[in-house]
Amino acid sequence: MIVIATTVPKVQKWLEDALAEYAPQEAYCLAHSEQAQQATTAISWFPDLDYLETLPNLKLIHSMAAGVEHLNLKRIGDRYAVCRVVDESHQKGMYDYLQWCVLYYQRFFDVLIAQQLQQRWKQPPQKTSADVKIGIMGLGQMGGYIAEKFAKLGYQVSGWSRSLKQIEGVTCFAGDAQRQDFLAQSEILINLLPLTEDNVGLLNTELFQQLPKGACIINCGRGQHLNEQDLIAALDSEQLRGAILDVFAKEPLAQDHVFWQHPKVLVTPHVASHAPWSAVIGQILENDHRVQQGLALVNEVNVMKGY
Ligand code: NDP
Repeated sequence: MIVIATTVPKVQKWLEDALAEYAPQEAYCLAHSEQAQQATTAISWFPDLDYLETLPNLKLIHSMAAGVEHLNLKRIGDRYAVCRVVDESHQKGMYDYLQWCVLYYQRFFDVLIAQQLQQRWKQPPQKTSADVKIGIMGLGQMGGYIAEKFAKLGYQVSGWSRSLKQIEGVTCFAGDAQRQDFLAQSEILINLLPLTEDNVGLLNTELFQQLPKGACIINCGRGQHLNEQDLIAALDSEQLRGAILDVFAKEPLAQDHVFWQHPKVLVTPHVASHAPWSAVIGQILENDHRVQQGLALVNEVNVMKGY
């Protein structure tokens, strides 16, 4: 039995609709209902842990997304198993989004749009994929997939993760010791890290200065990875050429936020990629079945590592 566990009313409605469509009625219930006492799995987005801890049969807290930073893993500890959603169409969606972002800078659409506003006719150079150096932070389910795809298109791709990876066509770096070398060759830096305690504010002045001058940033990780003031300063000083931001420390982005109007910032409203509801609900039903049977779970999170 799955219980819906979120403190965000809009998400509660999405989850109710998705479960109604993709789960048999006997498989789920609402928080605070009598049936919730039987719940073995909580489908979660910013859950109320005080409430979940009152449920006697709960074994699994399942993120409805790829990220788990909204769950408060520190408090969960080893009390419950934690899983997240991983799906190929989710990876493909991210790849589509990022292909557009890379081409936007590769073919100078940022410059062309600015020129059109001034009715200015000037042809930028034509760069091919082989001329462009992409750096990907995080080589997990998302970053690893994206790195391999861009390498196959002929881009010069580097990737950075905690442990060293081997990905065909990708120059891989690992750990803090190799971070500077990785950054030095990232003209377009894509952030696909999970948010953990040790990488809050990682995209800051120190990091921007280690990138080649005129580098571009694409943040698809989490808003808290980015120091917003540092980004504005780096754009204004031309250390950075531009930024495409999909995620923000506070979502929705405030109406009066400086990012909306900044000529070098492109804002997208956390749309880079969503797993289809059919896949989200399918994985959660599968894991609920597994947790009840005592079987190994799919896409389990390492609570100690935080992702
Ligand atoms: P994974 O857990 O599969 O991969 C995480 C990667 O980050 C791993 O390669 C890991 O290294 C690396 N990593 C973690 N911490 C560090 C660190 N301190 N230093 C260096 N590398 C580190 O996650 P996913 O790829 O599935 O997803 C990543 C994130 O993407 C999600 O948490 C979410 O925030 C974001 N996302 C955003 C979406 C959007 O629409 N904007 C959609 C989907 C995801 P190692 O392999 O060595 O452990």
